[in-house]
Amino acid sequence: MSEAGSRAKPHKKRRIIAASLVAALVVGLGGLGIWQWSLESSATNAYAQADAALREANGDRNRAAAELNSLRADAMAAHAKAVQIAAAIDPALLETPTVAADLMEAATSLATAASLEQGDDGQPALPEAVLLTRVPTQAAPEGRDAKVSAATRLAADKGSRSRDTDALERQIDGIEEAASNVERLELELVKSAHAKGSVTQLPELASQEAKDGFAAAVAGLKSPDQGADLVPLLQGYRDALAAAIASGEEAARKQDPDSTGPTYINGILIANKTYALPSWWGDGLTAETVAAFNAMSAEAAGSGHNLYISSGFRSYASQAAIYNSLVAQVGVAGADRDTARPGHSEHQTGLTVDLNCICEGFGYQADGQWVAANAHRFGFIVRYPQGKENVTGYIWEPWHLRYLGVDTATAVYNSGGTLEEFLGITSSYG
Ligand SMILES: [Zn+2]
Repeated sequence: MSEAGSRAKPHKKRRIIAASLVAALVVGLGGLGIWQWSLESSATNAYAQADAALREANGDRNRAAAELNSLRADAMAAHAKAVQIAAAIDPALLETPTVAADLMEAATSLATAASLEQGDDGQPALPEAVLLTRVPTQAAPEGRDAKVSAATRLAADKGSRSRDTDALERQIDGIEEAASNVERLELELVKSAHAKGSVTQLPELASQEAKDGFAAAVAGLKSPDQGADLVPLLQGYRDALAAAIASGEEAARKQDPDSTGPTYINGILIANKTYALPSWWGDGLTAETVAAFNAMSAEAAGSGHNLYISSGFRSYASQAAIYNSLVAQVGVAGADRDTARPGHSEHQTGLTVDLNCICEGFGYQADGQWVAANAHRFGFIVRYPQGKENVTGYIWEPWHLRYLGVDTATAVYNSGGTLEEFLGITSSYG
């Protein structure tokens, strides 16, 4: 038993070993399959992850691109506004005059940061929009190696999109910084205008209305409402100051024309009820006026008209004598109806002639009608036309001509209005 048993033992051992080997082989092969399957599955996962990461990076890039495109359009509007604001104010009207130049420089930096280009009109123009990019839908390739190498390629793409995003975001930051600099300087400029306006001395003789207007314009600069349009605020301040200065000068001129000299408007010497000449002004008809009259009367004579000067230059002193003696006879209101106060007579300019009878009838005579139709060709206008008493301050005087030169006289004649209407000025003693 023991022998047989001992013989049988090795057989049994071998079988066990063989069975174990088979089992091990089976298990081993199975393990290999699992191992292979697990490698394939991790490659699939890696591909899916790389694809998702690329799509996310592409989305980030496109959001940044859209933001940049929209910021560039904002920057173009902000640039135009800043240029307008800087141009709306004379630096002399700022407490710190350099702020206007600083603002212009900041506006230029903003245009650069936003990559604005020079348009055909010389104004900044938007560059080509940054285009959006897309990631095509692709199924994972077959096979582990193909998946792994595709995932590597997707990861490289993702890196490139992320670098794009970083570059776009740097541009966005640059524009935002430049825009906030522009905004800060705009407010600083307005503050500076307010500070200067607050200490500006207006002429003493400026009208109360002009002074009130200036004070209101300066107050409006103190703390503008958010989003307020700064250009009209600054222009209002500038215009109100100019109006206050002009009203002071006009008052000074009316008070004492000798101190300021005569008034020229658009280069035209003015003497009417609003504007007086200084007492020292004038010493006879000007040579141009005489030459123009001679040319006119010569041509008129050729058509059978006889024109002659009945009254030419009148000095301040002689006008004062005429006016004062009239006042003594009929009072101020009566005298003002008939003749000008000293300094206010156009005859003192040396550019004015009264023709022929110095009577209304002249306007109905052929001589007077020829003058009305032709005087402008020689540089004269009929200064006080019919029906314009409320504008010129004088009744119809068909005989009273004013020399303006051919161009201006023709322009006034063609306008169909008076010199006051042509220049937009008044004529009243106020
Ligand atoms: Zn006259």
